[in-house]
Amino acid sequence: MPVYTAPLDDMTYLLENILDADAVLASLPGGAETPVALLKDVLAEAGRYAAEIAQPLNRSGDEEGCRLENGQVFTPSGFPDAYKAFVEGGWPGLAHEPELGGQGLPRIAQLFFDEMLSGANFSFGLYPGLTRGAIEAIARHADDALKAAYLPKMVEGRWMGAMALTESHAGTDLGLLRAKAEPLGDGRYRVTGSKIFISAGDHDLAENIIHLVLARLPDAPPGVKGISLFLVPKHLPGSTGRNFWVGALEHKMGIKGSATCVMNYDGSIGWLVGEAHKGLAAMFTMMNAERLFVGIQGLGIAEVAYQNALAYARERLQGRGAGSRGPDPILVHPDIRKMLLSIRAFTQAGRALAGWVALEMEKAARHPELAVRAQSEGLVSLLTPVIKAAFTDLGFEATVAAQQVFGGHGYVREWGMEQFVRDARIAQIYEGTNGVQAMDLVTRKLAMEEGALPGRFFALIEAALDDVSALPGAGPFATPLAQALLRLRDATTRLQAAQDAAEAGAAATDYLRLFALVSLGWMWLRMAADNLRRGETQKLDTARFFFSRILPQTIALEAAIQAGASSITEASF
Ligand SMILES: Cc1cc2nc3c(=O)[nH]c(=O)nc-3n(C[C@H](O)[C@H](O)[C@H](O)COP(=O)(O)OP(=O)(O)OC[C@H]3O[C@@H](n4cnc5c(N)ncnc54)[C@H](O)[C@@H]3O)c2cc1C
Repeated sequence: MPVYTAPLDDMTYLLENILDADAVLASLPGGAETPVALLKDVLAEAGRYAAEIAQPLNRSGDEEGCRLENGQVFTPSGFPDAYKAFVEGGWPGLAHEPELGGQGLPRIAQLFFDEMLSGANFSFGLYPGLTRGAIEAIARHADDALKAAYLPKMVEGRWMGAMALTESHAGTDLGLLRAKAEPLGDGRYRVTGSKIFISAGDHDLAENIIHLVLARLPDAPPGVKGISLFLVPKHLPGSTGRNFWVGALEHKMGIKGSATCVMNYDGSIGWLVGEAHKGLAAMFTMMNAERLFVGIQGLGIAEVAYQNALAYARERLQGRGAGSRGPDPILVHPDIRKMLLSIRAFTQAGRALAGWVALEMEKAARHPELAVRAQSEGLVSLLTPVIKAAFTDLGFEATVAAQQVFGGHGYVREWGMEQFVRDARIAQIYEGTNGVQAMDLVTRKLAMEEGALPGRFFALIEAALDDVSALPGAGPFATPLAQALLRLRDATTRLQAAQDAAEAGAAATDYLRLFALVSLGWMWLRMAADNLRRGETQKLDTARFFFSRILPQTIALEAAIQAGASSITEASF
């Protein structure tokens, strides 16, 4: 059975030595109230919750799954009690505004907790993860009456949220969706339609479930410009009857503890959130929050897979190392070490990069200067598809590598590694497939700020390179990063100038990976430089591995991007 230990030491290391969290938070109003010392205590408690309450339900949740009985969805045994403890512990409101009943802690605390929950129990963590995104969308776009009626209970955790976008014929292309909403003339609407694949659409964890549903008003123009957003609760205020129904539960490859529902709205009462026909833009508040969350799911599951694979590699005796009579632990074999190092090279830099993004989110939300808020918001937008797609691709690759470390024992259920592979896979697909994230990066994000946004991000990496230029021993880290950054700059210029949409489409996933590797390299440079300056070594092994064995992938990615689209677009099928 797999085990999980929250990586608290690494989180603390990042807060104190790499992200300079105390200084960043102190520069924000109210930031001095949450020094790193306090965050460490909170994270230690969060780690206990993840390891002692959520993790023990991971395997049983997978085996038991969810069930639909008489129209009601039930989560696996233990989930309702674990969620009760979650609410009693005050975890739902960790980083929400105190005015809403939240604790107002910095988003980085939430992000690290998300990683822990995703590592401990991916399916369980998805329920509160969705609620948080729904809270953000309601807080930003709903009118005061809706906010007052729904947010306090959602922040408290007694009510939870779900997002209802997808229909059988409308997945990526939401412009095709058909669900309808008819105004009742009293501020309410009747929502009718069927949605598929709705995570946490129904369950038994909370007293009420608040759906954010995309639908069309009668006068809606076709396509995405005719989509509006509605708040549709499972139970209307003061009622115990159902306002919508579950058609079925999906049978899935993984995340079996997460209820994925076919939802039927049949004249369900709802309220408009934001402006008519501008629902997709409002929904993007939730989708962007979820995209980052899903990226963190990839990180969390990579961490737990790593922990278990490393423990196994230390104990499993097979073959022998150089000069040994054996049998030795498989950890002596270079191939096993390479797989473990590949995962660690992702998780440690990924955690650093995600933490950096969380601090930028904090600045975007709270910095007193408008210009700083706007700059941080731009950087978060740029990094959102990178984190969503690269972290979930690398997360899945990590689970497969960790499974491989177990040999045949990774393929059978007993060791729990095959569950990680099955659970991790969905994160590459939902919340906008990774291919679509890559398109978002190359088409929308590279064009932001009239094309200046990526350059603003690259300038941060250049500043880090300048910073280490005189640091003895930094050359083996800085030189390959500088070269990879040049490749990324060239590819960016090429794609920004591309006239042909097919060129961007053909290059997108390679470009996103190139972008991610350089961004992770930036974090490895910072960690290596920190170790060199302080005479420490704990990060140097993995930094050396990253720069010599992983970052060279950027050469192949650049070559693939430079090759253009024709071998793809002109191929016959
Ligand atoms: C377990 C699970 C949970 C989910 N939870 C939710 C939820 O809570 N709420 C919700 O609303 N939805 C949810 N979804 C739906 C999920 O977000 C969609 O499945 C996903 O966005 C892709 O849509 P689709 O399945 O219709 O695939 P399609 O849109 O049909 O895509 C098929 C393939 O074509 C590619 N593709 C499509 N369009 C483009 C394009 N323009 N450019 C390049 N490539 C393209 C895609 O990348 C994909 O590889 C969930 C799905 C699953 C399986």
